[in-house]
Amino acid sequence: MLAMAISPAAAEPPLKASLNAMGGIPIAISAWGLDQQSFDAAVSEVGARIEQLEAMISTYRPDSEVSRLNRGETLDSSPADLSFLAFVAKWIAGDTGGAFDITVKPLVELWRSCTAQQRLPTDAEYQAALATVGYGHVSVLLDGTISFDMPGVMLDFGGIAKGYFADEAVALLREAGATRCLVDVGGDIVSWQPADEAAEPFRVGIRHPRGGGEVFAVLSLDGGAVVTSGDYERYYEIGGRRYCHIFDPRTGRPVEGVLSVTLVTRSGIDADAYATAVFVMGPQVGGKFVERNEALEAVIVFDAGSGGLEVYVSPGLLERFELLEAG
Ligand code: AMP
Ligand code: MG
Repeated sequence: MLAMAISPAAAEPPLKASLNAMGGIPIAISAWGLDQQSFDAAVSEVGARIEQLEAMISTYRPDSEVSRLNRGETLDSSPADLSFLAFVAKWIAGDTGGAFDITVKPLVELWRSCTAQQRLPTDAEYQAALATVGYGHVSVLLDGTISFDMPGVMLDFGGIAKGYFADEAVALLREAGATRCLVDVGGDIVSWQPADEAAEPFRVGIRHPRGGGEVFAVLSLDGGAVVTSGDYERYYEIGGRRYCHIFDPRTGRPVEGVLSVTLVTRSGIDADAYATAVFVMGPQVGGKFVERNEALEAVIVFDAGSGGLEVYVSPGLLERFELLEAG
């Protein structure tokens, strides 16, 4: 939905399939080097794997492990997948100075209920929600114990899960013997091909944040992940004004002035979390952050203040970035 695979060019066309996971996330799979039967088997494994992960982290399902944690239970033996995800999320929270933080859930709830009542949160409500926000409240132990240090802490993996699902799908396709593949989980793209100078790059389009479905630029990649966080994906509308679905966990306020961040790195889990983090940091701080980190590249579309939109492209991505003609 966000970034779009335009044409994973290669001499031979891939086998393709699309799935809808339980949470309604559209999944598109392209793979090369498999016969139809092994491809179909791999696709159904991907479907089952994503269902399993969804069932664990969905906050819409009262019986999910994350819902149990959010009701105040300690999980002494969380599934390995959940402790892995929580561990990575905590690590990235530390690495981004708390710009990415899975404990934003109380803010999501606050904005949801204020939207239903068509009013803005009060200062007292912000203070109450912020009291439980902060990744330091979460402990993840290697034996799988996940616990919170105070009541009211709640987790939301919405900023990292799709990238992880896409990584898992690619791992399954590789195990099945694919020689090249690309998976799109609700716009989060992870691709893989063996290192080979002669290989055709994958071409992935970046959506214009105000252009309906229109693509404004194309990235060429040898493999790896491309994930976009966009203010147009989901938002809260109060009194005819739109508020972004991504919060600055330090102030509790929805981010303003950033329209989209497309993050390029090796894995989907990192691309997803760092896209959300750079969105919170904004173009100046976020741009410097990706320039300091050799593994991260980004395209940031932001409001320059004068009414026009500006595009930041990190230096390491310039060679692989192509702006399309307007119109
Ligand atoms: P994404 O589209 O990947 O940027 O994820 C946005 C979703 O992640 C939101 O809908 C929230 O559920 C959650 N979220 C919002 N703000 C943050 C944040 N600062 N850190 C982590 N997750 C967030
Ligand atoms: Mg994200």
